[in-house]
Amino acid sequence: MIQPYTRITRETALNLKLIMTDVDGTLNNGGDQLSPAVANAMHNLKEHRITVGLVSGRTDPMLVAMAADLDIGGPLIAENGAVARMNYKSGLVDLGYSRQPAVEALDKLKSRYPGRITEREDNAERMIDIVCRAEGIAIEDLKKCVGEVQVLDSTYILHLMQKGIDKGKTLKRLLRLMDVPKMRPEEVLVVGDSMTDLSLFKLFTYSVLIPNTDLPEMDEKKLRKSARYISDHGAGDGFAEVVLHIINART
Ligand SMILES: [Mg+2]
Repeated sequence: MIQPYTRITRETALNLKLIMTDVDGTLNNGGDQLSPAVANAMHNLKEHRITVGLVSGRTDPMLVAMAADLDIGGPLIAENGAVARMNYKSGLVDLGYSRQPAVEALDKLKSRYPGRITEREDNAERMIDIVCRAEGIAIEDLKKCVGEVQVLDSTYILHLMQKGIDKGKTLKRLLRLMDVPKMRPEEVLVVGDSMTDLSLFKLFTYSVLIPNTDLPEMDEKKLRKSARYISDHGAGDGFAEVVLHIINART
């Protein structure tokens, strides 16, 4: 049963070493701007030596720019788990994924729904997943059409991606690659707002759901079932209030 974020205990807060957060719908409502409350939360976490990383459907160059701007030193996981680096200064980790299944899925959708599938410009910068809009087509119909390829709805855009890739699995892989001392999953808090974050909620003990009013009811139910905590506020302010609670619980 999901609990209010104020139930995060002092012990959990003290053990925390890494916060991995989604971006859109979690830190902000899209775009590049972060509110002063979020910037302040990042600053407070640094003072408490809690590392922050980003785990998002955005492209790798976008996450690198955001992490450099905030000077946050944690792992960066882009394209919903398909592309990753240990921090914004290091190179890409070879995760061994392919874009070919997504390319084939997009072709299938375009021929099944002529004129109704729109690619987004940033596909040119994407390495593994493909983003598109499918006006007026139910996600279940899209899923049937593409077969083995994942169709993920971030509430901002649809992602087509090779089966078996997700944010949670990639974060687990990165934690195993970390330098000594290794990070334990119990030392990590994951934060997100949509179905693209479900794997994080399922694989990590400590998770926070940031409420998103654009979520379909079914998705919200699934997320609430898997996440441990929920914030009061939505994107940005919700993240900031959770961080403030953690900092206060530690001191
Ligand atoms: Mg999101």
